[in-house]
Amino acid sequence: MIRRFYPSNKALMRMGAAICLAAVAALAIGGHGTAEPAAAIVNENGPVIALTFDDGPYPKVTGHILDVLEKNGVCATFFVLGSRIEGREDVLTRMEELGCEIGNHSFSHADLTRLSKADCQRELSDTDAEIRRVTGHEASVVRPPYGYYNKTVMSAAERPLILWTVDTNDWRGKAPGEIADYVIQQAKEGSVILMHDQQTQTADAMEMIIPTLIEEGFRFVTVSELIRLTGGQCKGVMLPE
Ligand SMILES: [Zn+2]
Repeated sequence: MIRRFYPSNKALMRMGAAICLAAVAALAIGGHGTAEPAAAIVNENGPVIALTFDDGPYPKVTGHILDVLEKNGVCATFFVLGSRIEGREDVLTRMEELGCEIGNHSFSHADLTRLSKADCQRELSDTDAEIRRVTGHEASVVRPPYGYYNKTVMSAAERPLILWTVDTNDWRGKAPGEIADYVIQQAKEGSVILMHDQQTQTADAMEMIIPTLIEEGFRFVTVSELIRLTGGQCKGVMLPE
C-alpha cells in the first residue's frame, strides 16, 4: 500500500514563485520539438521532479516504463549504455517520441575515474555516436557510472554531469511497493531520482509512483529541463567549468 504524505494542495503550496515564473517562461519560449509538451500537460505549474533510469535499454522493462509514462503523459530521462543500443534502436526512438531525454551513461559502464582522458572521451563519444545514429543528435547530459567522477571526467564530458538526490537502490531486489513507497516519501521540489530500467520491480513500481505523484501535484521534467528551470541551481547536477 502506498502511503501518501501530503495532499496535492500542500504540494502545490510548496511551489516557489521563482519556479512558477520560470515554468511559465519556459512554456512561453517552448519550441523544443513535438514530443516535449507531453511533460507540460500534467501539473504544469507543480513542483518539478526528474525521474532517471540507468543502464538500459532493456526492451521489456524499458518498454513497460515507457508504457506507464505514456499512459500518464509524463516524461523521464534514460541514461543509456552505448553498448546496449544496437538492435534496440526502436526503444530510443520511442523515448524521444514521448518527450523523454536520452543521456550518456558511457559505452561499457566503466569507472571513468580509472581511465585516461582519451579513454574517457572514447567511452562518451562512442555512446554519443550510437545515440546520434538513432536520434540524429548527441546526449546533452552525462551520468558517470556509479556516480564516480573527477576533474578529468568533468573535462572529458564537456557538459553537465547528472548525479542524483534520491537513490532508490532498486537494483537490490526490492519489491515494487518498497521502491514506490521510498520514492513517494522522498520526492520533493527538484528531486533527481535514481532508478534502473533493468528489473521488472522498477517498472512495476512506476505504476504506483507516477499516478501518486501526479495526484500530489508534481510535474515531471527531464534533467535538461530541470537545469533550465533552475538556472543550473539544482542539486545533484555538476555543471561544466
Ligand atoms: Zn549505471
